[in-house]
Amino acid sequence: GGEGVREVVRGLEERGTDVVRVVYPDLIGADRGRDILVGQLPGACEQGLTFCRAVYHTTPRGDVVPVAGGLDAGLPDICVHPDLSTLKPLPWEPGVSWCLGDTIDPRTGQPAPESPRALLRRVLERTAEYAGGGGLTPVVGPELEYFLCDADAAEPSGWVPYGGATGNVYSAGRRGDPDGHLLRTLRQLDALGIGVIAGNHEFDGGQFEINLTHSEALDAADRAFRFKAAVKETARREGRLATFMAKPFNGLGGSGFHLHISLVDASGRNVFDDPGAPDGLSATARHAIAGVLAHAPALTALLNPTINSYKRFGPDTLAPWLVDWGLDNRSAMVRIPPERGAGTRIELRLGDASANPYLMIAGAVAALLIGIRDKPEPPAPLEGYGYDESSAPRLPGTLTAALDALEADEALTGLLGAEFTGAFLTYKRNELERFQQAVTDWEFTEYAFLI
Ligand code: GLU
Ligand code: MG
Ligand code: MG
Repeated sequence: GGEGVREVVRGLEERGTDVVRVVYPDLIGADRGRDILVGQLPGACEQGLTFCRAVYHTTPRGDVVPVAGGLDAGLPDICVHPDLSTLKPLPWEPGVSWCLGDTIDPRTGQPAPESPRALLRRVLERTAEYAGGGGLTPVVGPELEYFLCDADAAEPSGWVPYGGATGNVYSAGRRGDPDGHLLRTLRQLDALGIGVIAGNHEFDGGQFEINLTHSEALDAADRAFRFKAAVKETARREGRLATFMAKPFNGLGGSGFHLHISLVDASGRNVFDDPGAPDGLSATARHAIAGVLAHAPALTALLNPTINSYKRFGPDTLAPWLVDWGLDNRSAMVRIPPERGAGTRIELRLGDASANPYLMIAGAVAALLIGIRDKPEPPAPLEGYGYDESSAPRLPGTLTAALDALEADEALTGLLGAEFTGAFLTYKRNELERFQQAVTDWEFTEYAFLI
């Protein structure tokens, strides 16, 4: 209530905080928001901060995508309500605290249907019964890769992989990270309460991976969202670019966003674990795996949401290429890490770093719980090499195919809701149309000279 907010304001003022940055994830997971003076916080909590209804569907280029109820309705107000439980001081910006917001559509008094945070909450509520009377909680551990880039005016894009590209997988220390980026970033993320476990240099020069602790699904999505924003922000403050594009450079690997997922019952027991089974996996775990495999084509739209995403897939990339699963097999789409007991989990390696964490976690958890409800059995696990096309079906090869697969997947879209699905498909098909019209560097190189 009002007294609680005034208490929070007093605490902020005592700490010397004069500005609150209220941010929300847009449809593609980019952080957007507004800086308000601390004195405005009680009013913002009561009435919400007004934004125009393009909050979720303005592209990174600044175009408003014509989602129903947006520009066609005159871009009416939408209200962002600060979620004070997420308030955190920004370690690199003294005087500023950071908090997440939820949007309410004033015409309905309900959460905006295309709000990613509201979507994840809705999916968790609707699926709570799927596991036989509820009482099972999904636990999610995000793991993200990204490229750090140095400015280079000689490059057409203006950017090259950071550090002279001298690093390699697990290069520790300054050889692959001449400016100490990783240590600085880990400490900033820790100060921000993101919950980091570890960071390492990835396979390619300038590429890093950071592992986050596991927690309940919404909290994990909030942390992954803040993680991406914080890494991008700290890189920009150093004049660099941290990119979560799926595949930013020709000839270098892509950046994955692997999700570790388990399910615990009310007593905290991991229900994927079965010490009596030969592979240590319970029937519930097998159904969950089968659910993820069954919905994989539709999931690609949410987990691999850009035109660029499909350039990360391919044989021998450690990114998946086929719809398959395996025991401790990194060439499979679903890997079951070797730990059992409380650590029994699936590692979904499908997603790439460009995914909106809320949509990714909502989609993955939904597919897994549909599996637990319907009890399909997965095929035999992959043995050995996971890129032999005769062993399993291919993943969708393009964003176009992925969007069509999502649209056709009634079990999944039924959970996401027609309004969310409509907004997402409109946004993404608009992106495809704009790309269709754009002339790329590749075309010039291919056609300009010899033809
Ligand atoms: N970069 C790979 C991907 O795109 C993953 C490499 C790894 O296993 O760490 O998913
Ligand atoms: Mg990795
Ligand atoms: Mg991994």
